[in-house]
Amino acid sequence: SHRITLGPLVAAIDQGTSSTRFLVFNSKTAELLSHHQVEIKQSFPKEGWVEEDPKEILQSVYECMERTCEKLMQHNIDISNIKAIGVTNQRETTLVWDKETGEPLYNAIVWLDLRTQSTVERLINKTPGRNKNHLRHKTGLPISTYFSAVKLRWLMDNVSEVHEAVMSHRAMFGTVDSWLIWCLTGGKSGGVHCTDVTNASRTMLFNIHTMNWDPELCKYFGIPMEILPRVRSSSEIYGLMKICSSLKSGALSGIPISGCLGDQSAALVGQMCFKDGQAKNTYGTGCFLLRNTGSKPVMSDHGLLTTVAYKLGRDKPACYALEGSVAIAGAVVRWLQDNLGIIGSSEELEKLAASVGTSYGCYFVPAFSGLYAPYWEPSARGIICGLTQFTNKSHVAFAALEAVCFQTREILDAMNQDSGIPLNQLQVDGGMTSNRLLMQLQADILCIPVVKPSMPETTALGAAMAAGAAEGVSVWSLNPEDLSEVTSEKFEPQINPEESEFRYARWKKAVEKSKNWET
Ligand code: ADP
Repeated sequence: SHRITLGPLVAAIDQGTSSTRFLVFNSKTAELLSHHQVEIKQSFPKEGWVEEDPKEILQSVYECMERTCEKLMQHNIDISNIKAIGVTNQRETTLVWDKETGEPLYNAIVWLDLRTQSTVERLINKTPGRNKNHLRHKTGLPISTYFSAVKLRWLMDNVSEVHEAVMSHRAMFGTVDSWLIWCLTGGKSGGVHCTDVTNASRTMLFNIHTMNWDPELCKYFGIPMEILPRVRSSSEIYGLMKICSSLKSGALSGIPISGCLGDQSAALVGQMCFKDGQAKNTYGTGCFLLRNTGSKPVMSDHGLLTTVAYKLGRDKPACYALEGSVAIAGAVVRWLQDNLGIIGSSEELEKLAASVGTSYGCYFVPAFSGLYAPYWEPSARGIICGLTQFTNKSHVAFAALEAVCFQTREILDAMNQDSGIPLNQLQVDGGMTSNRLLMQLQADILCIPVVKPSMPETTALGAAMAAGAAEGVSVWSLNPEDLSEVTSEKFEPQINPEESEFRYARWKKAVEKSKNWET
């Protein structure tokens, strides 16, 4: 049959909180040629607990690869044109497995999980002045349930299989990137146990200045360093794909895995935010605004995190970012659907909210997992307030969308204060940005334009770019002059700033109530 000739192709595995995707890009044009997506089940075994099955995660990657390869073949695209594979992943989510059997020893504890709240409170109470920022000078992070170290500590203390595997030197710890790369490069028969600097910087065991695991931090959390993956740059060959040759995706065997970035870092790269001061906001399960601060780690005075943005090659310098993290964004949509049943799908939300066009004074603070930036308040809980006899489900739906916008405004304000240079527009991406009402509301509430690229898969694109640019692959140039122009859509603010300020002030009052609901 007729085969289309293309330039070198680069693939990406995008393993997110709510789904897994495999995508194939043309490295010359950044065009997305084919992809497949599979949803991931989340389980909530107890209040505040969030888990996923590591084997289901791995299986979903294989399934996405298989289906994508089928689609490529149907389009007469030769799979052997794929020159590299990048990995991007939900960050902080914590796994431990047995390196001899290859079996996970517990479910993955998802980043949103709150089971470590009492551990975190105990740790903070032990610090001088009850200071949650006690480890910030090394890690850029406050002590919180969010990061991997406390989740790993919980696994060692509460799961006997994990405890025993650690004692008998058979345990491997990793975030999702490490688990996938280890499995895909051979698993128990020679898999590569590694992570990249961006994922490592979210564990609370990594020193963002020395760019190494920190023995003192490991001691503080009681974590043996031998279970940690080796830390590599975000763009280099980690190992080669090993995959069963009887499958269509067997053709991917031998292709280098040569890019690895946490999802938020990958989106920063995919949005081409390579310059100091450039920023993007991603609306997925949570919402994450990252601003590149160049070669300097900038410490926030306003509750933001300092994180490693990327290090695109072994000999390249690390770039840092300030980050505002919001735990619940798209997750509130899932909650309205699964827990309240007021919408049948996430697409229905937009119609429902648009039917009223206002929350009618209803405010919804979805602090289901406490509040992240800028508050870092694990004991906050969700509230819906301002209800009257008139309020109906459409107003609640509208308030849920507004909540995502207000939370973004809070982290954007913090970011502007920290850097002293206000952003004059916001680059956005992520699953929720397909909601046009949300995008317009966001522009209205920020009073600046919101700019959305027409190719929405920027996270995967970033991972593919890192993989394609790696030494020994070199099919993708990261030189800004060589990068293809992205087409985008712009949402301009349409309400007057006083109206916007009034609503934002009301939101702030609602946040105070969600923080103090117990007292
Ligand atoms: P993640 O990377 O965290 O898995 P995605 O970027 O894939 O997230 O986005 C998925 C999230 O976006 C889900 O929480 C979903 O509820 C939400 N979402 C998807 N489409 C819409 C929509 N049209 N309106 C509102 N939310 C949406």
